[in-house]
Amino acid sequence: MRKLIIEARVNEYMMREQGNPHVPYSPDEIARDAVACREAGAAILHFHARKPDGSPEHAIESYAETVGLIRAASDILVHPTLGYVTLDQPAERRLDHVLDMAKDASKAPHFAPMDMGSVNVDRYNAQARRFETSDLIYKNSTGTLTYFARHIRAAGLKPYLVSWTIGFTRYVEAFLDMGLLDEPAYLCFCLTDNTFLGGHPGTLKGLQAHLDFLPEGRQIEWTVVNFGGNLFSLAGAIIAQGGHISIGLGDYAYPELGQPTNPQIIRRIAEMARELGREIATPEEARAILRMN
Ligand code: ZN
Repeated sequence: MRKLIIEARVNEYMMREQGNPHVPYSPDEIARDAVACREAGAAILHFHARKPDGSPEHAIESYAETVGLIRAASDILVHPTLGYVTLDQPAERRLDHVLDMAKDASKAPHFAPMDMGSVNVDRYNAQARRFETSDLIYKNSTGTLTYFARHIRAAGLKPYLVSWTIGFTRYVEAFLDMGLLDEPAYLCFCLTDNTFLGGHPGTLKGLQAHLDFLPEGRQIEWTVVNFGGNLFSLAGAIIAQGGHISIGLGDYAYPELGQPTNPQIIRRIAEMARELGREIATPEEARAILRMN
């Protein structure tokens, strides 16, 4: 079986006070985590730029500084976010910082994300029986996705495709049919536990529904995120079925594991994979599996 690609999702917009003090915020902290996660077995590093107080940072400079620090210190492949609640930003503005960085080899990321549809991202509080907001939409129109596909390819980056539900995967197939995406496609199933209700639940059934609708006859390497929940309960099944793993403190604080660091989480996945007979891909091997430039 193919080697396992482990992606470290180090921070998203997780706050330290949500249960784990090891969430990296600053470019230095993110770069340090990148180096340690690479040593622990990660081939890809996904991050969101953050301000010193942890709030979202949208400045291109902060993204460029972070990617520059990571690339100077490690060969780990870099996957920055486009920022998740984009509401009515035009497609050009959302991709600007990635295309800008791609022009300079020392600051160029390797992936750019494309969530292949739109979804409500209001947080639901089950105890209080209410949504915390009522109008947050992660909006990705067909036109926006077409723009992303063309420009990400032209910049020489690998599209990191994200599927929240089966309809998103059908879009992937359509984009492959239209020649807008290349094979093998790298496709992330974003399961959502607890607060977000827009994805499949973080259960074996939630994952299986995605797998049941993978387009036939297409080369697709798939990975799994459990946003808001513990991914370890699914990791064995994912590893055994040939999928890849995307995990980190950005998605879940892992209180069950006693406030682990990101590298500790990655090491645990790597150990589990080896116990199940699956080797871990280096960044170079991940590039070969995904046939990247
Ligand atoms: Zn993210």
